[in-house]
Amino acid sequence: MKKSVAALKAYQAEQPLAAIKDQYQLETLARLSANESVYGPTPKVKEALAAVTFDRLNYYPDGSAQKLRQAVAQLNQVDPEMLVFGVGADELIQLLTRLALEPGQNIIVPAPTFGEYAIHAQIEQAETKSVAIDASTGHVDFEGILAAVDDQTSMVWLANPNNPTGVLESAADIQGLLQQLPESVYLVVDEAYIDFADTSDNTVVPLLVDYPNLIILRTLSKAYGLANLRIGYGMMDTALAQKLNAVRLPYNLSDFQIETGTAAVLDQDYLQKTVAKVQAERNKFEDFLRENQFEFYPSQTNFLWVQVGDAKRYGQSFLKEGLQISQRLSPSWVRITLGQPADNERMRQLLVKIREENKEEKPV
Ligand SMILES: *Cc1c(COP(=O)(O)O)cnc(C)c1O
Repeated sequence: MKKSVAALKAYQAEQPLAAIKDQYQLETLARLSANESVYGPTPKVKEALAAVTFDRLNYYPDGSAQKLRQAVAQLNQVDPEMLVFGVGADELIQLLTRLALEPGQNIIVPAPTFGEYAIHAQIEQAETKSVAIDASTGHVDFEGILAAVDDQTSMVWLANPNNPTGVLESAADIQGLLQQLPESVYLVVDEAYIDFADTSDNTVVPLLVDYPNLIILRTLSKAYGLANLRIGYGMMDTALAQKLNAVRLPYNLSDFQIETGTAAVLDQDYLQKTVAKVQAERNKFEDFLRENQFEFYPSQTNFLWVQVGDAKRYGQSFLKEGLQISQRLSPSWVRITLGQPADNERMRQLLVKIREENKEEKPV
């Protein structure tokens, strides 16, 4: 076994809902720990699923996912040859790492950020350099990232908006980074949550034509509500896309993914309605956090990163009430995915209640 793998800690996937319900003897459980959509996909996905008939199952799917490719190219106004599809954005993260990283090289990530970037770098025997975000604003330290670049740096990863902080960087700031980054260093901008932002001008898609070292990732797991179907894609320079397609497995997307993904992408009306609901709930929750003096970063996603002190304690108390949030990313911050309005109201009340209980136990 590779030494780097022997030392590897697997990504902590979510436990199945049924297992947690059993363990805590819960009637209902709202899973608000993995930034999934509580609204689900467009009903058009039902028809798309039904379109995959029994008599297609013995034939391999379209290895280039033409139907989905055309829909996604149209949506983003890019050349279809700039697209690479994957089993979730996760597969693109794996593929890009595999394509780019030699043992001994390094990647640069902000901290905190999505854990997958570092896991795949480790598998490829590369080092991860973390550059702390600005603790007061939650913004990425672009200067710090540039300062960390050395002659072994192969990739810089930015989730934008970032997970778990929820903070959005402007396209102008990312362009500023690109202007100073050596052309030999890839910049991967993971736009998993970009659909949730208040304005639609935050994507760096328009920069693709000028920066062949820029790669953009998207997923249908979050705003489109299709996490279970595992559909993601990357947008990049056509020559790079060609190479990445050579690295990936030939039939990575099944007909189920191609058909449902296409239906979801074509129903932008449904997407906008879902996003509007999330934005309204986000505003309401952030108002509450401000009024009650909780520390948090303004979010442009479907989740909130809140400083609570004892994350485990909050996580356990929420779970007992049938609300599963993410309490394992930091000792003192929790990540709360926005849920249905009623669940959000219960979470707001719980946040105040647990804080009051803590105060009583530890008088100052
Ligand atoms: C959820 C998430 C992904 C993974 O998306 P999949 O398409 O489900 O693999 C990628 N990047 C970030 C930042 C995420 O939060």
